[in-house]
Parts: sequence; C-alpha cells; structure tokens
Amino acid sequence: MDSSEFRRCGKEVVDAIADYYENLDNIAPLSTVDPSYLYKILPNEAPEDPESFDAIQADIETKIMPGMTHWQSGNFFGWFPCSSSFPAILGDMYSSMFNIVGFSWICSPAATELETVVMDWLGKLVGLDKRYMSIKDDGTEGTGGGVIQGAASEAYIVVMIAGREMAVERLKAQGLSEDDVNKMRHKFVAYFSDQTHSAGQKSANIIGCIARIVPTGDDLRLTKQALQAAIAADKTAGLIPFFVCGTFGTTNTTAIDDLPGIADVAESEQLWNHVDAAYAGAALVCPEFRPLAAGIERADSFDFNVHKWMLTNLNCSALWVADSKHLENALSIHREYLPPVVVSTSFAKNYRDWQLPLGRRFRALKLWFVMRMYGASGIRAHIRKHVRQAKWLEEQLLADGRFEIMAPVVFGLVVFRLKSSAIAKSDTDVDLETINKANTDLVAQCNAGGRLFMHSTQLKGVVAVRIAIGSTFCTQKHVDLVLDVIKESATKVIADL
Ligand SMILES: *Cc1c(COP(=O)(O)O)cnc(C)c1O
Repeated sequence: MDSSEFRRCGKEVVDAIADYYENLDNIAPLSTVDPSYLYKILPNEAPEDPESFDAIQADIETKIMPGMTHWQSGNFFGWFPCSSSFPAILGDMYSSMFNIVGFSWICSPAATELETVVMDWLGKLVGLDKRYMSIKDDGTEGTGGGVIQGAASEAYIVVMIAGREMAVERLKAQGLSEDDVNKMRHKFVAYFSDQTHSAGQKSANIIGCIARIVPTGDDLRLTKQALQAAIAADKTAGLIPFFVCGTFGTTNTTAIDDLPGIADVAESEQLWNHVDAAYAGAALVCPEFRPLAAGIERADSFDFNVHKWMLTNLNCSALWVADSKHLENALSIHREYLPPVVVSTSFAKNYRDWQLPLGRRFRALKLWFVMRMYGASGIRAHIRKHVRQAKWLEEQLLADGRFEIMAPVVFGLVVFRLKSSAIAKSDTDVDLETINKANTDLVAQCNAGGRLFMHSTQLKGVVAVRIAIGSTFCTQKHVDLVLDVIKESATKVIADL
C-alpha cells in the first residue's frame, strides 16, 4: 500500500467509522454468535498472496461485525462504560502515525513531556492534591507525578510492587540483610475488601504476597475498624502488612470505602495506601463529588480509568503517585543498550521506570485532544448528564412500586431488583432463591429482544440488576427505553412465575 492508496482507504475507513456511530441505535448491543463462529468462516492459514483492502473491508461488515458487542451503543448498560469520542480517535490516529516506543525521554521528548503536562492538567481537573503533581505551582520539580497505564489492573501491580519495595527498604534500614529480607517476602500482606475489584487479588497473585480480603458490612464499604482488626491478627501471626487499597466507587455498587480511616491506618502501620477509583474517579471533574473523595489527598497513589467514563478511548488509565522515587526504586533497571539516564527529572522522565513493560505508546495525545476539544466544561457536562439519567431512572423504578434500589445511586450506576412483595403470590414470604431466580429471569428477559444490554451481579448472595449508564451516546431516549423494557419484562417475569 502506498501513500496515495492509503489516502483513499483511510478516507473510507473514516467514513465507515462515522457511519458506524450514526447507526449504533439500529444494532443489538450484545453479539449473539456462538463460540468458534469466526474460526468456522475464516481460512485456516494466512494468505500467501496479498489481498485487497476492499476484500478485507467487506469482511469487516460480514464476518467481524456480527461478532461485535457494541460498547459504544447508547443501549449498552452492561458493565462500566468504555466511553469513546471522536477527538480521542483523532488523537489516537496521530499516535498510530508516529508509532513511537516512548520508554525514555529521548525516545520522543514530546511524547514524554506531553504526558507529564496532561497528567498534571488532569490531576488538577479532578482536584487532586498538589503532592501528586510532577511540577509545582512555582514551576519547580515536585516529588509526585502522573503516568498513563494500560489498565487499572496494571496500575495496581505497579504500586503494589512499589509498596513492597518500600517495606523492604524499611526492613533493611532496621538492620536486616538482603538475605534476611528475602526470606520474609512470603509474609508480606496486602489488604483490601471483599468488594475490591479482582485486580487486587490478581496483583497479589502476581507479585506473590498474601491477599487479605477484609469483610465489609451491609453498606459494602471497607471500614477502619475491620482493617485494623485484620492487621492486628496478621501481626500476631508474624506476618508483615505492607499495602492497602481503598476503593472510590466499587465495581458492584460504587460504594466508597472509608478512605480517611484507611489513611489513618496506613499512616500508623506504614502501609502503601493506594486508592482505586477506576470508574468513579472521572466524576471528580465535578467539584460537587469531591467531598466524597476526602482521604485521597493522604494516599500514596491514586488511579482512575480515563477510558471508562471520560471520553478517551482505551487504553488510558491515569495513575498518580505522591513520591515517584518508590516507583524508580522498584522498577528502574539499566542496561547498556538503553539510552543513558542523562535526564530524569519531573520535566523529562523515563516513564519505563513507572510501568511494567519497557515500551509504551504515545497515549497522551488522545487525552490532550479530549481535554482541549471538550474543555473542562464539556467533560463536566458529560458526567452530569449521566448522573442525572441514573437519578431519573432510580426515581422511576421506585415510583413503579415493584422494585427496590440496592445501593445508593451516586454516580451513573443503578443497582436494583424486583422486590419480594412484587413476586409474592400470597402473604407468605418469598425465599431468597425465588427472588434471585426472578431477578435473573428479569435480566434475561430484558436482554432477550436485543434492544439493549444489561447485566446482573450478586451482593453477598443477593441477585441484583446493574444498569451502568455512561456511553458517550446515551441520551434520555435510551434511558426511556431501558425503563420501558424493565417494566414490560418485569410484568412478564411475574406472570410466568
Ligand atoms: C473496571 C475496574 C477495574 C479494572 O479495570 P482495568 O482497567 O480493566 O484493569 C479495577 N477497579 C475497579 C473499581 C473497576 O471498576
């Protein structure tokens, strides 16, 4: 393909993208193909001779499209959103154009420096404490800073390793030898709650420490008391607490852990304190949500997925640390084939030391496009629209009388279920199994027509329906539809019981 052919095909692709977004409402959001559908229709080997762009383009329509689940659909309410935008796509096109591997500053000074600048911009936009900024207000170097990770899970592993090495340094400072400390590594414990995303457990598995899953109460929040109790028991057993993660907006219900209480414990026990705000962090662009996030200013690290609810295409997980020397201490390894570390300042970082892989895309570009083309006001309007839609849906479900809301609606997530009085045939209480089945059936019935897609969850054994509003293209029309479908489906499920 030469550049003139690229011009022709590229314009076709841009048209196809625009057509796709314009027609999303006419496609069922959830794919209904059977496993191995694609294997059956594709050749078993790559082509020996070149094929034309037009042939591949045709296959996108006929072979790929049926196997797509359409996360950008306004009718997609299944998991947390993955909100894309045209500005982000444009920025990403430039990233593909440069296709650099930006592990050190010199690999592309603009890529590194733009990331530092936009991460400070974004940090200020969500009201983060000054400790997390690369560059202080007076223009001098800060100790903190932001970095774009691929995913919240990746950020989790990175900070867990940094926290572990911080604990190792502390043990060495107490006079223990490297050997002694190595023999103690299996005693290290990371703390999080039974509502923490699976990324917590996965990170502990990967780094090889103990994952202590602290039980939550009925409000599904990690409390200071529960954390203290777990730590006390572990210390008595000779284990070494080193890390805690509180969540700002859990995946199940968007519950917010007792972040100030967790910070108290982290400070007294010298734990690395990470705050996972993968979904709800985006809401902090709106000042009205910031009181809910008290405590974040005392953590060691904070991460949110810009690619979830802030109009920036995957992957873009924004991680900030208050003191970047811990990352470098844990992850910086020099080899002769790498550029010498001539500069590593807040202004000119070697981001390879802030992440797991060496190589990295120029991801700051799409974020720069989004922040400039929406402006802070546009991003706030985007968040507030979804929060309003979620509150509206909550009100309508309550007004119907057959549903109960299972967790406070704070952001764009509505968690509810058909309540027992709505499915009871007589005055006798309905058992949990029956209510659970009715709600599982409700989700299946809602999804059956292919008009929209939602998903269920379980809150300590209780089945609940989860409606996550947040697609860039979700308008009131889509939320009207979701309400209609829920009501109709509930009537059918109750009649069929
Ligand atoms: C979605 C989510 C994650 C995982 O995000 P990835 O970027 O896919 O790793 C972690 N924590 C919370 C609270 C989430 O909602």
